[in-house]
Amino acid sequence: LMDRSSIDVPSVCHLSDVQTTLEVERFRESLDKSKRQLQDIKGRLMKKKGSREHAYIIDAHIMMLEDKLLIDDTIKSIKKHKVNAEWAFKQVLKNFMEIFNNIDDKYFRERSTDIEHVGERVLRNLTGGVHESFSHLEDKVIVVAHDLSPASTAQMERDKVIGFATDAGGKTSHTAIIARSLDIPAVVGLENITHNVESDDIIILDGIKGCIIINPSDKVFKKYLKKQQRYTYYEQELLKLKDLPAETMDGRRVRLTGNIELVEEIKSVIEHGGEGVGLYRTEFLYLNRDDLPQEDDHLDIYKKVIEAVYPNPVTIRTLDIGGDKLLPTSDYDEVNPALGLRAIRYCLKKKDLFKTQLRGMLRASAFGKIKIMFPMISRVEELREAKQVLNRAKEELESEGVPFDEDIPVGIMIEVPSAAVIADILAKEADFFSIGTNDLLQYSLAIDRGNEHVAYLYEPFHPSILRMIKGVIDAGHSEGIEVGICGEMAGDPEYLVILLGLCLDQMSMNSVSIPKIKKLIREIEFEKTKEIADRALLCSTAEEVKDLLKKEGMLVEDLEEFKEVVEV
Ligand code: PEP
Ligand code: MG
Repeated sequence: LMDRSSIDVPSVCHLSDVQTTLEVERFRESLDKSKRQLQDIKGRLMKKKGSREHAYIIDAHIMMLEDKLLIDDTIKSIKKHKVNAEWAFKQVLKNFMEIFNNIDDKYFRERSTDIEHVGERVLRNLTGGVHESFSHLEDKVIVVAHDLSPASTAQMERDKVIGFATDAGGKTSHTAIIARSLDIPAVVGLENITHNVESDDIIILDGIKGCIIINPSDKVFKKYLKKQQRYTYYEQELLKLKDLPAETMDGRRVRLTGNIELVEEIKSVIEHGGEGVGLYRTEFLYLNRDDLPQEDDHLDIYKKVIEAVYPNPVTIRTLDIGGDKLLPTSDYDEVNPALGLRAIRYCLKKKDLFKTQLRGMLRASAFGKIKIMFPMISRVEELREAKQVLNRAKEELESEGVPFDEDIPVGIMIEVPSAAVIADILAKEADFFSIGTNDLLQYSLAIDRGNEHVAYLYEPFHPSILRMIKGVIDAGHSEGIEVGICGEMAGDPEYLVILLGLCLDQMSMNSVSIPKIKKLIREIEFEKTKEIADRALLCSTAEEVKDLLKKEGMLVEDLEEFKEVVEV
């Protein structure tokens, strides 16, 4: 069990003497880093009219970071108990806050909130290196936490963390996406699992159904062992389809590609029969490090991916930072990051950083086939401006005599409702579209992807979503460009019939889902799916779409093979 608070503080880890010394150093570094961040914030506040008085509150926060008692008690605890800095600091903080809370004076009680804020900053800086803590694990565990960031989830090792459950999150949050990519069973958005589980409880985590069983009886335990064996067998059987085409019974061919975040995932794309990479989320190259990747870092990594899947192409998406994926060096403090300086907006503000990445991509293009994709486009001007930076990068390389592919297709994600509505305009200036349903749903239905309280509203069959997908596909096809999908919806069998019937050309998903989706495609008639999709577009509710699929015998949960896998 990790911490119950809103930061994913690792649980207690016991250290050797050498590790203890390093841990004290790590704690001091996090204090220094916190101080530097606060001084930066203070500097910015001092420049802003009307914000100067707030700057002095920051001074008080900086003083707390220098508090001898707070520092000494934490270091003493690390040394005495030989534990990780997060745990030691958290205990000391708790004692401090209790003392302040018990003082019968409003002013002092309010100061306890200041301590909490400062403490959270230090803990955040410490857990930026959560990697350390996961690597201390000796046994296989199921991690239970209030929330986990996408960055720390990306550092989980499959042989140590065999599953995780969180209070927070939704099924298209980046944390859930990473879990799927790394093939780590996970259940997110449970709201209060951290209050129902204690460390050392025995847990069954059913990632298919999305539930947790705490301290199960022997009988239940045995049933689940059987289910686990059945599921493993089912997945192995599916792999036999690896080299067969994703083609319907009446000859409609769809390209199934993999989504990756880390270069290590490329192996899984190939093993599951992906026809290249349809979405390479490059932001993970920027996370979990203190500096920015340089042009050569980009080149090295992209080259590895490109060569591994050649002659299939890799669609490399430019940096989509912001939202729930923050740069450790971020200098923007946003109240509402999902609607903030995210993705292409950030890159167009930081053109040097953007051009460095584009130069890396261009140089890598000499080693295979790439496509370049811009995320979060919300108006045509952004596409034009991004292309200008790309052209400048091309001109530079040309004048330096560095080779690159001159004909790289340049496409965009359609994931903001405004882009879906003007897809006809964008189609004239983009070489391909990829529909990002995770964000398209988040922004159209006004549901934060990571917010468990509104997760029940995630509904890809919402008539607005079906209409938008249809409009985007038709607009793309009118201009003769290919339209794909790369949101989580693509890898979920429930939506396949409708997506096929809407005439998508490509579907990109976590590689583990590719064989399952391929099998279904091979058992379906395209003409039939078109007819069903046309009727689905006339439905008023998602429920009506599901009824329609049921009537046609196309509801996935009714298919025998799925029933067998899902049942306990
Ligand atoms: C999407 O938004 O659907 C998408 C594929 O991009 P991401 O999940 O990385 O935001
Ligand atoms: Mg997106």
